[in-house]
Amino acid sequence: MEKDYAKGYYLLYDPNNNKGTAFSHSEREEAGLEGLLPETIESLETQILRVDRQLEHFDKPINKYMYLMNLLDNNVTLFFKTIMSKPSKYLPLVYTPTVGEACQKFGLLATRPRAIFISINQKDRIKEILNNWCHPDVHFAVVTDGERILGLGDLGIAGIGIPMGKLILYTSCAGVPPEHTLPIVLDVGTNNEEFLNDPLYPGLRQKRATGKIYDDFIEAFVVAINECYPKICIQWEDFGGVNAIRILNKYRYKISTFNDDIQGTAAIATAGFIAISKLLKKSFKEQRFLFLGAGAAASGIANMLLQKFRKEGLSEEEAVKQIWMFDINGLIVKSRTDIADHQKPFAHEIEGTDDFADAVLKIRPTAIIGVSTIGGAFNQRVIENMSLVNERPVIFPYSNPTSHSECTAEEAYKWSKGKAIFASGSPFAPVTYDGKVFKPGQGNNVFIFPAMGLAIFATAAKRVTDEMLLIAAESVADHISDEDFENGLIYPHVDDILAVSINVAEKIAEEIFNSGQAGVERPDDIRSFILSKMYTPVYR
Ligand code: NAD
Repeated sequence: MEKDYAKGYYLLYDPNNNKGTAFSHSEREEAGLEGLLPETIESLETQILRVDRQLEHFDKPINKYMYLMNLLDNNVTLFFKTIMSKPSKYLPLVYTPTVGEACQKFGLLATRPRAIFISINQKDRIKEILNNWCHPDVHFAVVTDGERILGLGDLGIAGIGIPMGKLILYTSCAGVPPEHTLPIVLDVGTNNEEFLNDPLYPGLRQKRATGKIYDDFIEAFVVAINECYPKICIQWEDFGGVNAIRILNKYRYKISTFNDDIQGTAAIATAGFIAISKLLKKSFKEQRFLFLGAGAAASGIANMLLQKFRKEGLSEEEAVKQIWMFDINGLIVKSRTDIADHQKPFAHEIEGTDDFADAVLKIRPTAIIGVSTIGGAFNQRVIENMSLVNERPVIFPYSNPTSHSECTAEEAYKWSKGKAIFASGSPFAPVTYDGKVFKPGQGNNVFIFPAMGLAIFATAAKRVTDEMLLIAAESVADHISDEDFENGLIYPHVDDILAVSINVAEKIAEEIFNSGQAGVERPDDIRSFILSKMYTPVYR
């Protein structure tokens, strides 16, 4: 007898069509499922209840992660319905922080492949490899080379957990249909000695390729994926700082592409500053920023702030005066001879200092942004000086993971005597100071990139522009009310993510149509158009 893979036993092992105990009587009869399932028909809600109860049996987040990935392998609809039922509970299990450990243990966990792996040895066969993917119409690829995975460093191909996790977020937080997404890891080797000596590491056992060989591989990949999938948008993820900036600058004006670490971070930080200026009822132009750390993240945020200042009417010259940087060698000033190209616009004519707390008194910033990777760098003197020069000092320690955060939420509230407006890269629990409960903000890119993905997917955008990202930031900031601010919130609540993403995507899509970047015709009603393109986790 010939096997029918769309029916009976095989249907239960097809994650895209499996409904498990939710198959109706007539479906069971028709597909030959009778007897393969208990007789009771269950709703999706009952199935979620079971998932929830089963998860309670696992103590460690990594085991919950494994369970949920196994669920994704078995039943895509139930997986996404579960995640979307309570994002604040499930996102930390399928993405950060748990996904970091999942990447570190990738060789050990070795689950069913849910991604494309392309090694540098396969440079001339990339199209062939991409054609092996199970879905023919991919619009969105998240791509990493694993060099700088979260704050964990070089994890080689084990970094694939990040693109996989991020694409789960595109679907669960903004309804980007999973069949149009593709996680990819480019294997160029790894400099992680532990992995190179681990028999279970499944990537190339060689040091990272660099220079022309590396660049040629990236170029071959970009060409091949655009040939295979003409509507593709590439989101670069967790590349090393230098490559991240270089690759983005090389391709951003040629193809549809963006880098979430640089541009998504910039957008979410800018959203925070826009919300703060609105809620303090001060013009955005009155803000002055001092960065601790002047690398890739600082460069992305600074450039978006510049763009916002210009949009608010400042000249280029006036705008750069509002942005200052301080790196491992001190304040970035004109007289320094060691500054990189991306730092030059922010090098000012002033006497230098290598004391950050001193720089705060000198420059009198309204906000300090920590992107230095140096835990504790916003010490008591720094926060006290910020409180001396501001009624409400804005303190943004953005370095990840938590141990690298420039200060904790508790320190910021305590040393500023409850005056600080705080948001960090890593999450902090609420803090009680002087009888008042403060809820620390988290500058989580999740309010930006899924909405960008939805807008780009729906409009088949040909380019991702800075203006689209700034509009995303402005739109996120529109979601904060005075009441939220009273509670210390400067970002929306994660459980509202889907509704926020739809609103943000609508604004981005408007910009895509207005700027002539859309690959589809402008619909009469952009919102309804976007809604019609979205994935909803229901059994069909
Ligand atoms: P990077 O290596 O490009 O830059 C680090 C910068 O910090 C450099 O300019 C370096 O000179 C400076 N620095 C190092 N030690 C210093 C010291 N003692 N004093 C002052 N400056 C010092 O790194 P990056 O990609 O810009 O990332 C920086 C941090 O930002 C990381 O911890 C990363 O996790 C975090 N980040 C957070 C998010 C987020 O969403 N929250 C996004 C991207 C990056």
